[in-house]
Amino acid sequence: MIVAQRKSLERIEQMLEGCEQILVVGCGTCVAVCMAGGEKEVQLLAEQLRMRGKLGGLRRTIDEITLTRQCDHEYLDQLAPHVHNYDALLSMACGAGVQLLAEHFEGRLVLPALDTRFIGASDAEGQWSQRCSACCECILDLTGGICPHTLCPKGQLNGPCGGADHGRCEVDPENECAWALIYRRLELLGRLDQIRTIQPPKDHSATTRPGRQRHPAFDADGSED
Ligand code: SF4
Ligand code: SF4
Repeated sequence: MIVAQRKSLERIEQMLEGCEQILVVGCGTCVAVCMAGGEKEVQLLAEQLRMRGKLGGLRRTIDEITLTRQCDHEYLDQLAPHVHNYDALLSMACGAGVQLLAEHFEGRLVLPALDTRFIGASDAEGQWSQRCSACCECILDLTGGICPHTLCPKGQLNGPCGGADHGRCEVDPENECAWALIYRRLELLGRLDQIRTIQPPKDHSATTRPGRQRHPAFDADGSED
C-alpha cells in the first residue's frame, strides 16, 4: 500500500490562503488504511479548518467528501456536478490521486493535504514500514522475500557492506542489517546457497519515469507478449 502522512495545519492554511469555498476530498483506499486521508481524517481536517476559520474571522465554507478511490477517473465523475461551487479542492489522496483529480478537473485549483512517503506494509497498529522501492526488477525470489534494495540504506545487492556490525546496520544501528535478515530467512528456507547468486547492478532504465503499464487483456489481441 501507499503510505502517506498529513501536512501540518499551518502548511495547509498557507496553501488555502484566499480560498473561501473549499471541498476536502478523501480517498477510501491506502490513505484510509494508514489513517492519513480516509473519511475520519477528512472529517477531522474539515472541522479543524472550520474552527480556525471561525477563530480567524474568515468567510469560508468547508465541505467534505470521501471517494472510493481518487486514482481512478471512474470515481472522480461523481464530483463533476459540484466542483464549480469551490475555489479549491483539497485532496487527501496520495500524489497519484491528487494529480488525477487535477487532471480530471483541469482548470480547478487542486491542493495536496498529504505528503506521500512510500510503498509499505503494516508492522503494528498505527505503524508502517517501507518494503518496496518499485525497482521493476524484483529479486525477492532470491532473497527470501526480503528486499535489500529497500531495506538496506545503501541498496547493497550482493551481501553486506563492510560496516555491518554484529548483524546491525551501520547507517542506523536500530535496524538489523538487511543482509543479516536475508541470511537468516534463506537458512530457514534451506536455500542458503542462493545467497551466492551475484546480482548485476540495477537497470535504472527500467524505472525511467513516468512509468506506464497496460494489462495484456486490454491489448488488441489479448496476448501477454
Ligand atoms: S526488488 Fe525490492 S524494490 Fe524491487 S520490486 Fe522487489 S521488493 Fe520492490
Ligand atoms: S550494514 Fe547492512 S543494511 Fe546497513 S548499509 Fe550495510 S549492508 Fe546495508
